[in-house]
Amino acid sequence: MPKTARVAIGAAVFFVAFVVWIFSGWSQGSTVEAIDDIVFVILGVVAAIFTALAARAVHGRMRAAWVAITIGMVGWALGELLWAYYELALEEPPFPSLADAAYLVMPLGFCVGLLLFPAGSGQSRARTLLDGVIVAGSLFLVSWVTILSPIYSAGSDSTLAMVISLAYPLSDVVLLTIAALAWLRAADDQRRVLNALTLALVFIALADSGFAYLTAKNAYTSGGVIDVGWVAGLLLIMVAATSSRDEVRLPKARADVTSWASVWFPYAPLLLAGIVAAAEPATVFQTPLVGTVGTLLMLAVLGRQYLAVTENRRLLATVAEQALRDPLTGLANRAMFSDRLEEAMQRRERDRGSVALIILDLNDFKLVNDALGHPAGDELLNRAGERILGCVRNSDTVARLGGDEFVVLIDDDTLREHADQIAQRIAESFDKPFTIEGQELFIRPSVGLAVAGPDEPAATAEDLVKRADTAMYAAKKTRTPGVQRYTHELHLDNSPDNGLIQRLHSAPSPEDAASKQLLGELREAIDSVELTLAYQPKFNLITGRMVGVEALIRWPHHRRGLLSPDEFLPLVRHHGLMRPVTDLVINTALDAALGWHQAAVHLPVAVNMSAPLLADPHLPARIRRSLADRDLPASALTVEITEDLVLGNMEGTRDVLNQLRRSGIRIAIDDFGTGYSTLSYLCELPVDEVKLDRRLVVQILDDARVATVVRAVITLAHELGLIVVAEGVEDAEIATCLIEFGCDVVQGFYFSVPLSAEQVLLLAAEHERQVPGMGSDPMSGNAVTLGTHRARSGRDL
Ligand code: C2E
Ligand code: CA
Ligand code: CA
Repeated sequence: MPKTARVAIGAAVFFVAFVVWIFSGWSQGSTVEAIDDIVFVILGVVAAIFTALAARAVHGRMRAAWVAITIGMVGWALGELLWAYYELALEEPPFPSLADAAYLVMPLGFCVGLLLFPAGSGQSRARTLLDGVIVAGSLFLVSWVTILSPIYSAGSDSTLAMVISLAYPLSDVVLLTIAALAWLRAADDQRRVLNALTLALVFIALADSGFAYLTAKNAYTSGGVIDVGWVAGLLLIMVAATSSRDEVRLPKARADVTSWASVWFPYAPLLLAGIVAAAEPATVFQTPLVGTVGTLLMLAVLGRQYLAVTENRRLLATVAEQALRDPLTGLANRAMFSDRLEEAMQRRERDRGSVALIILDLNDFKLVNDALGHPAGDELLNRAGERILGCVRNSDTVARLGGDEFVVLIDDDTLREHADQIAQRIAESFDKPFTIEGQELFIRPSVGLAVAGPDEPAATAEDLVKRADTAMYAAKKTRTPGVQRYTHELHLDNSPDNGLIQRLHSAPSPEDAASKQLLGELREAIDSVELTLAYQPKFNLITGRMVGVEALIRWPHHRRGLLSPDEFLPLVRHHGLMRPVTDLVINTALDAALGWHQAAVHLPVAVNMSAPLLADPHLPARIRRSLADRDLPASALTVEITEDLVLGNMEGTRDVLNQLRRSGIRIAIDDFGTGYSTLSYLCELPVDEVKLDRRLVVQILDDARVATVVRAVITLAHELGLIVVAEGVEDAEIATCLIEFGCDVVQGFYFSVPLSAEQVLLLAAEHERQVPGMGSDPMSGNAVTLGTHRARSGRDL
């Protein structure tokens, strides 16, 4: 049981005993006085000890507060001691006396102490001041009507006696006012302490007032009903002091909203004053003092009302503003963005100006979230928002549309170049790393830009969003660094169905939920290396030997079965997960290669690398480390460049490829003959191998023109010293034709479907038996002798 509860129970028991004693009349005459006086001395001293302990237990400002309260309590205890002495040793206690001086230290100490209590709620100072006026004025009125005025009119023996008599109720008015204010603005963690303390002071004030009243009439004796008030007050002070030591510091998570209590509380004394005044003859109000205080009160109440109304209006404005702001970054939210865009488009129609949209999506943001946790992710979003804001003008709208997606609206009828520059600036602002939780992170955005110019009056807000979104997706898909501007060609490649438009205008559909779930599962599969590889053998057409394998990714999904790359790679690309997936593929493939090497099967394994990854300058080092970790030679690995748009960073890509090639890793261009401008890559990029796309290969028997192209490509490749691999060879006729055309290597279902690592080993072993004594490196020295060897069918192996 906490200390406070034990003390509270003890105090309650004591209180009940005291009340029973007072009312039972067990003790008579001087015994009552003696017991009563001793009780008060003891209570005063104990309370002073409690407050001193509280002062010792806390620190800083709270300690100062409790020290002041302790001084007050010591004053009180001293007063009690003197009083006891007067009452028990002298016949008649003198009034006024030294005891009064000691007693009056108490309100002073308590006032100072309460003022030192820390404030919690963000109530305005003006309002606190007005509350103080209302409470003090009301209490004064009550005190005046019930006590002060009778004392005043009863007169007294001396002026000092009169002043002291008035000092008690007046100091109580001040003390209660301060207590009320302290209670109103109490910080959450001090609430319980102040509850007890304020209640204690209410009891003491009531008893004081009664005492002053009776003393003025010379009717007070110890052991009367009034003493109950003081006992209750002192006991409550002990409880408050203990509670202050018990107090757990609550986290300051609560919103800064004024409590209900602080709204109604100042009216409670006002109501009391009203009731008391109503019971009095109307003449009370005609005295100048009451009249003045009453007027003051009225003004204070009006002032408070006014303040309350303005504060409310400000709050409403804040709330309205917040409804249009993203709470995390403080940028505009979707609602505000849609509004502004609509407006801008209308203005554009009127003025024949142009409106530009830049949409950004952070690459690999999910990884930051997953690896460093959501607070780090939040911080990154904030920093990213700041960077974007730093690149735009005040008139542009920057919004966060949720997740890691930002949009900038440039509503301006000046030049198009402007939007381009801003977009470029934004993209470049991400060149510097972010420092998140002490770690330097390079986070780059995919940036899409679309402009609705004066030449397209019919373009709607929706069109513009769709275009910027399409451009952004194209940038993301190909990992284009810098800015991707929207062109109509992009539109054909990218279905806008999954675009921003839908996300802007519709609630998440069940499909969304499913793809979200799939994405979650994909991340997990990557993390726990659940993705697997199948290895499809490649055969030398001349020697018939298996000369390598291509690693093809698979996802054994627990519900959906074995998923092929087409089914989940789009998701990987879309969410910027290509890099971790590729790392996984490289490591798994090299593990397999190591297994084969250890069985003396020296088969190179080819991995597919989406072109944008090849611009990463750290890639060669990573790959070399992966090889070194396994003690594998560089010739164990081939890199196939998949996806056609290397263009984005041709120089960087060439650098990386050169480094890879120099270290002995083979480079292949995948899907040759379908993507555009791949022909120029043959000249510009360092490659060893060209893989003819299977869509071309399947047509060579049926389409003479395709056959011509394929034949020409093979010749061209050989001229350049490259090896040609034909993919997707499904039957013997095509294989024969390829041999005639001079193709070097084949891969396809006709020879072998993709296999497991173990099956590759079995196949290699069998092969070794059937094709003995061939050179150890059939890929090299391809002085293409058009042989008559028929490659073996993989199917019957
Ligand atoms: P790709 O690089 O052109 O890989 C060859 C694809 O052709 C494989 O499909 C393979 O199973 C299939 N194939 C092989 N022989 C034949 C045949 O005779 N006829 C036909 N019709 N198809 C054949 P898969 O495994 O579904 O892979 C599809 C694509 O996914 C790959 O095309 C490649 O672009 C991509 N991919 C696969 N694994 C990875 C990977 O680890 N990383 C990356 N970035 N892409 C990968
Ligand atoms: Ca490939
Ligand atoms: Ca291919």
